[in-house]
Amino acid sequence: MTLDNYNFAGKKAIVRVDFNVPLDENGKITDDTRIRGALPTLKKILEDGGSLIIMSHMGKPKGKVNPKFSLAQIKDDVAKALGRDVKFAEDCANAGEAAANLKPGEVLLLENLRFYPEEEGKPVGIEKDDPAYEAARKDMKARQKEFAKKLASYADVYVNDAFGTAHRRHASTAVIADNFDADNKMLGYLMEKEVKAVDNILSDIKRPFTAIMGGSKVSTKIGIIENLMDKVDNLILCGGMTYTFAKAQGGKVGDSICENDKLGLALDIIKKAKEKGVNLVLGTDCIAADSFSNDAKTMVCSAMDIPDGWEGLDAGPETRKAFQDVIRTAKTILWNGPAGVFEFDNFTGGSRAIAEAIVEATNNGAFSLVGGGDSVACVNKFGLADEVSYVSTGGGALLEAIEGKVLPGVAAIKGE
Ligand code: AMP
Repeated sequence: MTLDNYNFAGKKAIVRVDFNVPLDENGKITDDTRIRGALPTLKKILEDGGSLIIMSHMGKPKGKVNPKFSLAQIKDDVAKALGRDVKFAEDCANAGEAAANLKPGEVLLLENLRFYPEEEGKPVGIEKDDPAYEAARKDMKARQKEFAKKLASYADVYVNDAFGTAHRRHASTAVIADNFDADNKMLGYLMEKEVKAVDNILSDIKRPFTAIMGGSKVSTKIGIIENLMDKVDNLILCGGMTYTFAKAQGGKVGDSICENDKLGLALDIIKKAKEKGVNLVLGTDCIAADSFSNDAKTMVCSAMDIPDGWEGLDAGPETRKAFQDVIRTAKTILWNGPAGVFEFDNFTGGSRAIAEAIVEATNNGAFSLVGGGDSVACVNKFGLADEVSYVSTGGGALLEAIEGKVLPGVAAIKGE
């Protein structure tokens, strides 16, 4: 079923959204992108004459009630965004009556799902090597099923619009779907858009296809890097992982971030790229700093020859130009992870050069997808988010989808 083909009039819809918004120390929302992202789906249901039960997680309360992560803090913001009153259920697992009392057009927001360990379905307080772990795991899975059934009992129809958690088999993102037949479960508009953006990258690839992977470490990106090697023409690796590659090739990296136990892996990636005919582009120079701070003293130096006491915190001018030359000619672009410590204003240059080249390529007809919290923060910081083809709300979910993994949140609805 699709949202557009469904008439919600007189129906109660339970919608999983990602309202895991950042809050300041006073509990005020600092960025409401995620709330705005879910509005088209929520509004469609209300405008049809349905009633709405909204559920989400916030932060990592680890299965315990914690007021710091209470969704009550955002209730008024949700009401304002929807332009109507929002009721609040303080206990998401005991909201049957509140849900039953909803009239068409009314909205009920459930308290943080992760106040219950059943949401994530992982046993709490027991390590994997404990002999009792397997029994605890099975017990928790059974409890997760019951918890999902409870949530499902509030509604006639289930909608999943939380792409950010679609790679998790949680009660509200996947298990719940088993309680609805195919005609009464569907993806929300945001999810549909995200899935389509990934399809765009993976199916009809216009070449050259250039992927830019940055961030701090190679170890956390290795799965996607290996997978991309079968798909891309150009693979730009930047950010902190530059120095693991430099050291692996005999370079001196000073105090730069470097995974000494991944030097072999770096050489292996270089070898594989050669075998597969992938143009692997690594940083050749860098902006080195004499401390990890925005106000550090800096100098441009070779990424292979960084003096002790100095660390590479951004891509150098020669590297930026090389990256830009490759990006400008691309027809399909994926960017995940910054080229430097972009949180420090003085080390945003490499990431900015990448973002600007992506915009240029997009203006020349390329399809560009930017995903993952930090690269999205980059394009937002540079005011360029509207100038790329698609900015994904998913970090882990996006990368797993691009790795070709089936996302449990999508599979639970589409039955793949
Ligand atoms: P990740 O979470 O692995 O995607 O990495 C994102 C983080 O990588 C950001 O917080 C950046 O500050 C950091 N990063 C990027 N380049 C460097 C670098 N050269 N040295 C240290 N950290 C970096």
